[in-house]
Amino acid sequence: MPKANETLLEIDLNALDNNYQYITSKIKPGTKFMAVVKAYGYGSDSVIIAKELIDLGVDYFAVAYPSEGEALRGASIEAPILVLHPLPINFELIVNRCLEPSIYSLRMLEEFIAFTEATGNQENRLENYPIHLKFNTGLNRLGFAENDISKISEMLAKTKSVKVKSAFSHLAASEDINEKKFTLKQIETFQRLSEELILKLGYKPLLHCTNTSGIINYPEAHFDMVRSGIGLYGFGNDKEENKHLKPVGTLKTELSQIHTVKTGESVGYNRGFIAKKLTRSATLPIGYADGIPRSFGKSTGWVTINGEKAFILGDICMDMMMVDVTGINCEEGDEAIVFGSSVTAEELAAAINSISYELITGISQRVKRVVCRK
Ligand SMILES: *Cc1c(COP(=O)(O)O)cnc(C)c1O
Repeated sequence: MPKANETLLEIDLNALDNNYQYITSKIKPGTKFMAVVKAYGYGSDSVIIAKELIDLGVDYFAVAYPSEGEALRGASIEAPILVLHPLPINFELIVNRCLEPSIYSLRMLEEFIAFTEATGNQENRLENYPIHLKFNTGLNRLGFAENDISKISEMLAKTKSVKVKSAFSHLAASEDINEKKFTLKQIETFQRLSEELILKLGYKPLLHCTNTSGIINYPEAHFDMVRSGIGLYGFGNDKEENKHLKPVGTLKTELSQIHTVKTGESVGYNRGFIAKKLTRSATLPIGYADGIPRSFGKSTGWVTINGEKAFILGDICMDMMMVDVTGINCEEGDEAIVFGSSVTAEELAAAINSISYELITGISQRVKRVVCRK
């Protein structure tokens, strides 16, 4: 990869291939793979990621909101797409773009059935439209309760317009071994309610409940399909697992100007940094509007320049930030790496009590994306 001469997010498709191969090595042959590409493919580019994953052989995609599924359809991606968090106002878009809704409450089920029954004309009724039933087993975020099953099956028995393609749940603490008891209880609840559901429906939908950490930590809970997001992008929520995974995104930029700041002089807005000694400051064309949280300011965060740590001076601006390059062998035009494979997004995020997920999904659409294979 040539040196960056503007702010770039490099998307390494070979890293994605590596991560996909590693995660699939953890699942039994025949288990389906749902790739989670919500939030612009965790801040990268959902279309680029999805196209590569189709070549690699994924079965399903998941997005959070219907507009994200629409973007994939607009790029001619025909694989099935589960929409994790639709709202009734989205039903038309969902059906028009052949997206598959997660149905998580009796209100949603009732409204979606009514919508599908009213769609199409007499000769051309919607039939067996795929839906996915989401059950709450302890996260208390979205999902039916176990005792909704009788009502669900009654409602489904009265219509031909929808069919349950899958039933699923989401683990609350799959990465936390201290919560193993809680997680095993969630899995047991899911297993029990699935059996009841299958009995009442009279057919067996696909069952799934593990995200990346669940895939790694709870092989007994893979059921028919697994859902992986963060692992595909290179993070395993665990030091051991991270050794096998490679970050897909590298965020880099270049030094646009270097200043010599005398003792007593300041750098940036509100004089956020005051030099106690002669300081060399480099300005970078990246700021909080690009997704660098302002909380990294005042030496909390850093970038890497020619292999050395350059801490952020003062407050991060909207479009720029200044870093301390005193004693670092560098000049204007050199490259600065925010995160990538040596300093990972996870390591940097930890400096502000955040997680890789938040940092990588926050990289704004203003940052140019480039694809590479390292
Ligand atoms: C985002 C999400 C996932 C993916 O989780 P990772 O930890 O990124 O693998 C899986 N399932 C649901 C319901 C999600 O919302």
